Amino acid sequence: MMTGKNYIGNQLSAKGNKTFKTFNPELNQENKTVFTEATKEEINEAVNLASEAFKQFREISGQKKAAFLNTIADEILALDHLLINMYCSETGLPEGRAKGERGRTIGQLRSFANLVAEGCWVEATIDTAQPNREPLPKSDIRKMLIPIGPVVVFGASNFPLAYSTAGGDTAAALAAGCPVIVKSHPMHAGTGELVSSAIVKAAQKIGMPKGVFSNLNSSGIDVGQQLVAHPKIKAVGFTGSIKGGRALYDLAAKREEPIPVFAEMGSINPVVILPKALENRNQEIAKTYAGSITLGTGQFCTNPGLLLAIKSDGLTNFIKNLYEEISKIIPSCMLHPNIKKGYEINKEKVISQNNVSVVANFSSEVQNNYAQQAVVTVDGKSFLENPDLHLEVFGPFSMIVECENEVELEVIISKLEGQLTGTVISDNHEISKYSKVISALQNRVGRIIFNGVPTGVEVCESMVHGGPYPASTDSRFSAVGITSIKRWVRPFSYQDWPNELLPEALQNDNPLDIFRIIDGIRSKEVTNE
Ligand code: NAP
Repeated sequence: MMTGKNYIGNQLSAKGNKTFKTFNPELNQENKTVFTEATKEEINEAVNLASEAFKQFREISGQKKAAFLNTIADEILALDHLLINMYCSETGLPEGRAKGERGRTIGQLRSFANLVAEGCWVEATIDTAQPNREPLPKSDIRKMLIPIGPVVVFGASNFPLAYSTAGGDTAAALAAGCPVIVKSHPMHAGTGELVSSAIVKAAQKIGMPKGVFSNLNSSGIDVGQQLVAHPKIKAVGFTGSIKGGRALYDLAAKREEPIPVFAEMGSINPVVILPKALENRNQEIAKTYAGSITLGTGQFCTNPGLLLAIKSDGLTNFIKNLYEEISKIIPSCMLHPNIKKGYEINKEKVISQNNVSVVANFSSEVQNNYAQQAVVTVDGKSFLENPDLHLEVFGPFSMIVECENEVELEVIISKLEGQLTGTVISDNHEISKYSKVISALQNRVGRIIFNGVPTGVEVCESMVHGGPYPASTDSRFSAVGITSIKRWVRPFSYQDWPNELLPEALQNDNPLDIFRIIDGIRSKEVTNE
């Protein structure tokens, strides 16, 4: 069943001689399948096919793209336990998480299918002609969003389904009308191959142009770099480390034709716990946060890596309670020995800094590739002065910064790098007295949360999953939810174009029956001219 080969369009291919295997971190052993890295020739084939496919795919109706996306979802479900078992064997994550992530992936595909079947997403805008306007006549101008071209998607290590092969980036790009080449993540290449087989089956069933999708294996940076540098690639989606995302962003910017790289990278997701909340509810907050810090072994981009509060007895009690709560949690497996190694190195680096105290560092023996959760504290001044304390420790780790006062709290927040989320824990109307703190937080994040936890990203239209750099490379776009389609399109205007040659979305009689802006008014009306 498993081949270890690349999908170049609908064809399996393995011309290279560089191979690798995935790793089962729970069993601490390699998995069986041998994967073959894509060669330069195969990369070119995939890109050329995608470029050819784009000529047809860009014109395909919303209904047909919807059928394609829904069929991908059906084919993924049809993989059933084969996919779930593969996912677990390549991640060390439990079956429940695998099924939950599959549900999210299916939901994303179907929500993009609904979006493109309905059709309004193209933002059709019509300004009718005014031939008698003085001093000059006005032309008929009509605008809509059109797909940007072939897109490369880098699968994320921590979301093998929802942010990888048929994940949010791929679903959004296909919905927009862009062929996709996935640079499969080497940690879960088997999951990637299975999901690719589902996409290829769906493409064949629905009659999509050959090359609308390819999946390339690699276990090093060469394949990804060649893809991003290829002149026929027009945009890139990435989820992973700041180092990787930034390298690809710089590479894309240096091309003769620079292209956008939508990279979603590191975040420590500051949580501000206000004094009254600490005074009245420190035990409950400690319990909730012990769970959030360790959820999924801390391997979420929304993990709460930084807790900020003003010194008080309530804070002292909270620290004590957090120690007790987090010590009760049984350590769990990380995705890969390399992720575990990165966690240990970064954790030790933080712990060794001046004025950092360890509150909890689960110290009993743990299995191979399991992570020992840790919480540390530091004073506000030391945190401000030491940039090494601002780095993401990817895993079940959080740092509590004890601020002298509200002014120091605000300064610390305003000096943070860009973040995906910011959370405020407040009692009753306490928050209204901290408007400067909240305003500073809003300036650094993409999403702000009241009395909750940052982990758990709802997939819906109003979600923003992105934020000021380095949370993402372009804070104007979300990587989650149907609005993420906007990363893969560009606005395009037709001037005085013959009605019968216009795309249906812009034609006078509105054959798609979509809402459009006509001379400044939103309606489903037909136009006369
Ligand atoms: P990564 O190292 O950034 O790799 C992600 C993908 O990008 C991989 O397919 C990798 O290819 C490729 N890549 C990385 N650097 C590249 C470069 N310079 N040129 C071309 N391609 C490049 O992330 P990861 O493997 O998922 O995890 C490593 C660390 O990233 C984690 O320990 C964590 O610190 C961080 N991370 C953060 C988040 C978050 O949401 N904040 C999510 C995931 C990971 P190869 O693997 O084939 O080299």
